[in-house]
Amino acid sequence: MCGIYGYIGDKDAYSAVLNGLSLLQYRGYDSCGVAYYNNGFKVNKAVGTLNNLKECPIKPKIAFGHTRWATNGVVTEANAHPHVSFNGEITVVHNGIIKNSDEIKGKLIKKGINFYSETDTEVIANYLTTIDINKNLGKIFKDLKGTYSLIIGNSAGDITLIKQFSPLHILKTDNEIYISSDISSLPSGELYTLKDGDIIKIVNKEMWPMPSYGDLL
Ligand code: GLU
Repeated sequence: MCGIYGYIGDKDAYSAVLNGLSLLQYRGYDSCGVAYYNNGFKVNKAVGTLNNLKECPIKPKIAFGHTRWATNGVVTEANAHPHVSFNGEITVVHNGIIKNSDEIKGKLIKKGINFYSETDTEVIANYLTTIDINKNLGKIFKDLKGTYSLIIGNSAGDITLIKQFSPLHILKTDNEIYISSDISSLPSGELYTLKDGDIIKIVNKEMWPMPSYGDLL
């Protein structure tokens, strides 16, 4: 299990995320990737170290990334995160393991959805297209069994964070939001550690804590 890192603010978000991921490298990883917002999320991925990622053509205000320790699927660029849903709407990075991903994947394939990786994380991206992310969120914790901390971006640039048995933290300064799976990689500011069952939505740098769903477990 490696790292996830996100940044929303006025700095170059791509560089901020690369810097954050570099602070998580001590945990070890086999591949990596970053999503940055430019009228929809664009994705750079690579096998091996962060140095293998392409440069970003813009200085985005929103980005998030991942260092992978492969659990479901071999080490390839296609299996590296972020993963994008079949319709391009949802982009996601994930730390953890979805235990029932084969079962969910089978149902999604029956609906005609194609998959391009072997990962449990691509299953989450496609599964989330079947859910209204503003309603009925407790269902996510019933449907997805296993461990997950997630950063999810949609095509409008809204970010949703979900935590279930894998760590996830938010650090807020006056005009920036940092997200990380590891407190030691965060600068100083107002720290919020998500609890299992938490969902947080971030729209235009405003955080909207949604009700915690931990009690549904
Ligand atoms: N299960 C996911 C995968 O194999 C995430 C692994 C991780 O936490 O790095 O891609």
